[in-house]
Parts: sequence; C-alpha cells; structure tokens
Amino acid sequence: MQLIDQAKDHRLFLEHQTVIEAARVLKQSLPLSNSLESILEKVFPVISQAEFGVVMIWDQASGLFRPWASFGCDPIVIKRVGLRAGESITGKVYEEGIPIILNSHQELDRWMENMRPGNYSILSRSVGHEFKNTCIIAAPISVTAQKFGVLIIESFIEGHQFQQGDIPFVQAMADLMAIAIDYSRQVARADIIRQTREAEQLRSEMIATLSHELRMPLTTIKGYSTMLLMDEVQWSKGQVDEYLHLIDEECDNMQSMIKGILDSSLIDVNQLSIDSQPLHIENIAHQVVNEIQLQTASHRLIVDLSSSLPTVFGDPRWIKQVFRNILDNAVKYSPSGGLIVIHGEVRKEDVVISIADQGIGISPEDLIPIFEKYYRVKNNHTRTIPGTGLGLPIARAIIEVHGGRIWADSKLGQGTTVFFSLPILNIKPDPQVLPGESKPVDFDPCGDEEGTRT
Ligand code: ADP
Repeated sequence: MQLIDQAKDHRLFLEHQTVIEAARVLKQSLPLSNSLESILEKVFPVISQAEFGVVMIWDQASGLFRPWASFGCDPIVIKRVGLRAGESITGKVYEEGIPIILNSHQELDRWMENMRPGNYSILSRSVGHEFKNTCIIAAPISVTAQKFGVLIIESFIEGHQFQQGDIPFVQAMADLMAIAIDYSRQVARADIIRQTREAEQLRSEMIATLSHELRMPLTTIKGYSTMLLMDEVQWSKGQVDEYLHLIDEECDNMQSMIKGILDSSLIDVNQLSIDSQPLHIENIAHQVVNEIQLQTASHRLIVDLSSSLPTVFGDPRWIKQVFRNILDNAVKYSPSGGLIVIHGEVRKEDVVISIADQGIGISPEDLIPIFEKYYRVKNNHTRTIPGTGLGLPIARAIIEVHGGRIWADSKLGQGTTVFFSLPILNIKPDPQVLPGESKPVDFDPCGDEEGTRT
C-alpha cells in the first residue's frame, strides 16, 4: 500500500515538474511549431506507455486538420496527413470539446472508421508499420470559446492501456499548447494591424506631399490667369506672353507629376508590361536630349555615345522614360546651369550609361534611399525645387524589369552621376521573380476520395 502511495506521489511530482517546464517554453518566444514540439515531447517521460503523439490543428483555409508537431514517427511523412471536419478521433474530439480515452480495439475502430484510406496509409508510413493502435488519449486544444485542434497520444503495443488518471495531465499539456497558439495568433494579428496602420500613415503622408507639390504649380497658374483676366489692368503684349509662358510651364510640370503618379501606381501592382525589342541606346538618348534641351537655355546637354555601342534589348517607351527622369533631375538639381553629359561604357555582359551633371550633388547617406519611393533629400537647396520623389524609383523599376541595375555617385556641391546598366542583346537577362509568385499550395492528401479505412 505504501509502495502504491509512493508511486502515486512520484507520478504527481513528475506531472507537476513537467507542467512547470512546459509552461517555461511559453516564455521563450519560439516559433509556434517549435513550442508545440517542445511541449509534446515532455508528455512521453511521464506517460511511459505512450509511443506516438501528434498535435493536429484546424486550418481554416484548407478545411483540414494538419499536424503541427509530432513524436515517435517520421516528422516529414506525417506532415502530409490532412483530416477533414468530423474525420476520425481528431474530428470528433474537436467537435465535442471533451477529452477521451480509448483502450479497446472495438472502441478505436468505431471512432476511426471514417478515416480516409489516404490518411491511414500516410500514418502507417510515418510510424513504419500498420497504424493499428491499442490505446489513445485525445484532448481538445482550445481557450475559452476558441477551438484550435486536438492533442493525440497513442500506443501500438498489445496490452498497453492508458489510465483515467492520465487525462488531467494530458489536458493540462493541451491547455498550454492552446495558450501558445492563442499568443502566436494574437501576435500575428497585432503585426497585421501595425503594418496596416503604418501603410495608412505612409499613404496619408504621401497624399499630403503630392497635394502640396501639385498645389504649387496650380497656385502659379491661378495667380497669372487671374491677373490676365483683370478688366481694370491693360497688360502689354510682352507681359501677356510672359504670363502665358509661365502658365504653360507650370501646366507641363503638373502633367509630368501626374504621369509620375500614374507610372508609380503601375509599378505598385506589378503592371509594368514591357514590350522589348533590339534598341540602339544612342538614338533614344538623342531623342530625349532634344526634348529636354528645348526646356532649358542655361544647361548644355551632350550625348557622348558611340554609334557602335552594342544593341540592347528593351522597351523604347520605358527606356526613354528612364532617360527623361534622370535628365529632368540633372536639369532641376543644377539650378545654376552647366554641362550634362551622357556617356556609355561597354562591359562583358552589359552597357553602362552614365548621366553626369554639375549641380548641387547628393550626400553619401542619401545615395541609396533616393531610389525609394517618395524619398526626397531635404536641405536648403532642394526646399524650393518641386518634385514627388517618384522619378528615380520609377527609373529603378523599369531598369530592373529589363534585367539591369541603377545607382548613383555624387559629391556635394560638385554634381551627380546616375548610372544604369542594360544587358547586351545576345546575353539573356536573369528572369525577374516577382513578389508573390511562388505561393505554396495547400492540398488535401486524399483529394475527393470518400472511402474509409475499413
Ligand atoms: P523628385 O526629383 O521628384 O523629388 P526623384 O525620385 O527623381 O524625385 O529624386 C529623388 C531625390 O533625389 C530628389 O528629391 C533629389 O533630392 C535627389 N536627386 C535626384 N537626382 C539628383 C541630381 N541629379 N542631383 C541632386 N539631387 C538629385
């Protein structure tokens, strides 16, 4: 009698210690599957007859229970199990929400009779023999009204039996698992809320910047057109021409800002479709330079590109846009005028184009962020220069889609050189992997198979 009491005390002590150790796992902020794995393996030294265990979690997206942790089997093979709602012991215990203990073949067969053969054979493969269990304890994993899944502990050895007294311990371990799952879902939810808030904040900052930038030319247009419409003032022909000229210039500014916003929204949704063809880069450069030279008398634009540059492969519409965005900046950020030189260099696999100006320059810490959306350098020189922070990110997206790279070099007060590379025609660019392309697919291992294991 004393021996039995001692054994009971020892078992209670062991359970107590194990629950404390399992609770410690919750404080370690491990990935969820590692926490579940770690709690599950602690069950086995306490319930000595147990040989196999699995944590089945309901996955709303696939409509299946999936193993998140396992013990006593091949962890890779068992991952293929997918039980439907109501299927086998997992399905039933999840629905009923109370733990069960099954110690006879008749009972086990009855509870497992609707397990689909595909799942049965995966389970058999995972344990390395027919999945013929002799006893099971299954405990629901849930917190308050939220159900997550089921913890299953089994043995395959003839004569093994679990005790009613094992249930409170297994349920306590399932409850700790439920806390781990609940916590990890709360953290995931909090992350989504934080990201949404950040995105909203960025969006409102961006709208504020764009509205401000668009208001500047609009204010000028409104001011000059109101002046021209004043009946009481007689404007000379020269003054009218000058004001109309200024209005025209500001309309161009607004047009290019709106184009930038539209191009950038194409990039956001990966809609930048390119229609590539063999290109002579020097022709494109000349066309854009002629356009831009018309807008400025204080800058001299020089195309120093040889007509023997190798042919590249690209969409002329978008490559022109790259030249336009970089040359616009070269003019805009050289307020005292100067030379702007386009140069080309042939390398083994690509052509590198450089566009150098003699403007205000960019400090080293800004050379990388200027290619990020809406980034604008803030200093006394740039304060009065209009812009949206979209020109370079758009150029970068275009160049990267073409398999090239873009970067900048600069010295404050001395000028900036922007470089971009384009692969030479007969050299295939690396295919661009767009975000979201390699989404894993959830599958039901048994497909539409309706049969049961018997
Ligand atoms: P935007 O010119 O409309 O602000 P961009 O994306 O074209 O936007 O450029 C981002 C920032 O990089 C600019 O705000 C400017 O501060 C800096 N920048 C770009 N090109 C030059 C240049 N050639 N010289 C000096 N600063 C430049």
